[in-house]
Amino acid sequence: MAKQDYYSILGVNKGASADELKKAYRKLAMKYHPDRNKDDKTAEHKFKELNEAYEVLKDDQKRAAYDRYGHGAFDGQAGFRPGGGAGAGGFGGAGSPFSDIFEEVFGDFMGGMRRGAGGTRAEASMSQRGSDLKYRLKITLEDAFHGTQSKIKISTYVKCSSCTGSGAEKGSKIITCNSCHGHGTVRMQQGFFTIERTCTTCGGTGKKIEKSCTSCSGTGRRLDDKSLTISVPAGVEDNTRIRLAGEGEAGLRGGPDGDLYAYIEISSHTFFERDSDDLHCRFPIPMTTATLGGSIEVPTIEGGRARVTIPEGTQSGAQFRLKGKGMSILRRGSRGDMFIHVFVEMPVGLNKKQKEALYKFSELLEDNHHSPETEKFSEKLKKFWGSFRS
Ligand SMILES: [Zn+2]
Ligand SMILES: [Zn+2]
Repeated sequence: MAKQDYYSILGVNKGASADELKKAYRKLAMKYHPDRNKDDKTAEHKFKELNEAYEVLKDDQKRAAYDRYGHGAFDGQAGFRPGGGAGAGGFGGAGSPFSDIFEEVFGDFMGGMRRGAGGTRAEASMSQRGSDLKYRLKITLEDAFHGTQSKIKISTYVKCSSCTGSGAEKGSKIITCNSCHGHGTVRMQQGFFTIERTCTTCGGTGKKIEKSCTSCSGTGRRLDDKSLTISVPAGVEDNTRIRLAGEGEAGLRGGPDGDLYAYIEISSHTFFERDSDDLHCRFPIPMTTATLGGSIEVPTIEGGRARVTIPEGTQSGAQFRLKGKGMSILRRGSRGDMFIHVFVEMPVGLNKKQKEALYKFSELLEDNHHSPETEKFSEKLKKFWGSFRS
């Protein structure tokens, strides 16, 4: 069966505003909500469709993708799967993407309460994983070549040392929550919904700490500076992401710590331009060296020198390859190559004597055989202009 168009599922036209979409979704979601249509498979299906359609259309980016590519926009995309898998255990289970949408839209008249009863959710509000952190790590090309240990300092949540992250004052007992009498959930009637929501006092655990840690007000963490060392491997590429497990924000009340992600940003180099494993260097040479031949001394990424022989009659743009003088290759002992791109510089500010010498020199050239490129080009020009003569 072909999938129905998201706009027609919601009964709106393509230009519908965010408000119109939300209104349409609200109306239909109430009508087909499983709580009102017990054991009605059609309603359940409709409800799923609605949620899927709304999830896409409420998001500007997803909506734009959908407008352009239709349902195909989300095929084979690991991160986004509207509607979840087939037979995903019905509506409302913990982790169902629909319950989140529904809650988001109806949250205001549900008093902003958290959806109830989901085991993972309940624990989550008591203790919570710390957020992941992003850090932009600027390094030089030399650092990327050698690999480096970068010391950084960040301001973040760290574990409270007084309570070792638990949030409980030393010697404090764990007691039964008096709001939910240890059930972890509270039932309430709201319109036509019976909502079993997580107890906010204990976060669904049914238990609470008798006395909160005074140093961290029971959160188990506090803001502080933290020093870290990031190991950057030799040969690292620009924009590489390095994960430091557990170095993000400390968890809330003993929850697991988040991770820190360092994004490598390699600054540009005075001499070298990188092209994956290779390095490129533009190098000026005097006209005389280019004409007569000679040798130049070029820099290497390790800070040393290398010699390059310039043959007689070298032109601008000629490139010379130095094998194994490029970047180090990640997780391999080998290296890429270095390419020297020479450009010939014409002398400037010549004095009278020097100019005279050059005039004399040009007389000595007699014909064009010493400038093969010019000669070839002149031939082509002659033909080109000749073709216009009738
Ligand atoms: Zn504490
Ligand atoms: Zn409680």
